Amino acid sequence: MPNFSLSDDIFAAAAQQFPTPFHLYDEKGIRQRIRDMKEAFSFAPFKEYFAVKALPNPRILEIFQQEGCGLDCSSEVELIMAEKMGFAGEDIMFSANAMPPEEFLHARKLGAYINLDDISDIDTLRDFGGIPEEVCLRYNPGGEFNLGGAIMGQPGDSKYGITRAQMTQALLRLKEMGVKKFGIHSFLASNTTEESYYPTLAKIVFELGKELEQETDLAFSFANLSGGVGIPYYPGQEDSNIFRIGENVRKCYEEVLGKDSGVAIKTELGRFMTGPFGWLVTRVMHEKDIHKRYLGVDACASCLMRPAMYGAYHHIHLCGKRNDACDTLYDVTGALCENNDKFAVDRMLPKANMGDLMVIHDTGAHGLAMGYQYNGRLRCAEILYREDGTFRMIRRAETPEDYFATLL
Ligand SMILES: *Cc1c(COP(=O)(O)O)cnc(C)c1O
Repeated sequence: MPNFSLSDDIFAAAAQQFPTPFHLYDEKGIRQRIRDMKEAFSFAPFKEYFAVKALPNPRILEIFQQEGCGLDCSSEVELIMAEKMGFAGEDIMFSANAMPPEEFLHARKLGAYINLDDISDIDTLRDFGGIPEEVCLRYNPGGEFNLGGAIMGQPGDSKYGITRAQMTQALLRLKEMGVKKFGIHSFLASNTTEESYYPTLAKIVFELGKELEQETDLAFSFANLSGGVGIPYYPGQEDSNIFRIGENVRKCYEEVLGKDSGVAIKTELGRFMTGPFGWLVTRVMHEKDIHKRYLGVDACASCLMRPAMYGAYHHIHLCGKRNDACDTLYDVTGALCENNDKFAVDRMLPKANMGDLMVIHDTGAHGLAMGYQYNGRLRCAEILYREDGTFRMIRRAETPEDYFATLL
């Protein structure tokens, strides 16, 4: 079920204080999720490295910092953001691919964990920052990734990671270069609410770690289960129970590695950590009745691209009309000159009036972060609903000056 934890009074109060559209994020919800996550994995040395790309705002990253999490960065700009906020050393995981080599240098200067995406990255790392004693390798098993008979992903078609044979080769080479211990990272399914995903992946990674330890005589120090745990975007869909997931990872851990192996578990969740705790608040500006009935709102795909890009479902409700019958069929559109700029297609909603506040759910991850400026439609503000009940603007809306700033 999409997250209905905030009452409509809160969305309305935010819209009184700030012009629409904006994303509203719930600090309390994010903190609780982090605490649940830590508790669920407390059976082993554990750290969550929040995937910065999901919600790259320092005021949000600060919450993760205060709760004892690290950051997963995959670009220079994300490293700079982490650095400016005082993240360093083991609090940063650098998981990039096909990146400019200088980014390794920067990550090494910060003392970050380096996650190698390819065997050729070894030479690059040697030349840009040097080989540390502990490295992480990103594993791609190839083929299909099945969970309980369902195909969850196609690692064979994915650009990421290193093959099984290359894992051994890479580690033997790294050993000659002074590496003493290694972590294994793997990311085989995205946005999956199938609770067996993490346990299944964990088993693969734990077993591989043990095999590689035997083959190379290096120490397997951590399993990085990365991101991919999904959220219930659809009504009726169940939320992933992180305690059950943690419990099943614990069973694999004890079975494969042993209770006191000391092997750490790291995660790089993005969507699961903040996705349900963000809402895009927008206002109904137009209604149009032609071959279909359209509601035009003041937000567009520049603030939330997932529906246009993936045909992704985001639940929508009209503020103050939660309990009204959904008796009218609409497409909900933004103003881009691009016919895929629709937040919903053929959606039953209560009858809307001009000026109604509309709340688009689950925009707390991969929402504004994926925004763009096509058509000169600028990206909107971000507002944090704080634990003390007040609102704080944590990113202002873009202005035409921002848009023109790069022109020469
Ligand atoms: C995108 C990404 C994540 C986060 O994925 P979610 O689906 O948001 O959990 C984690 N790690 C890496 C390397 C990524 O690219």
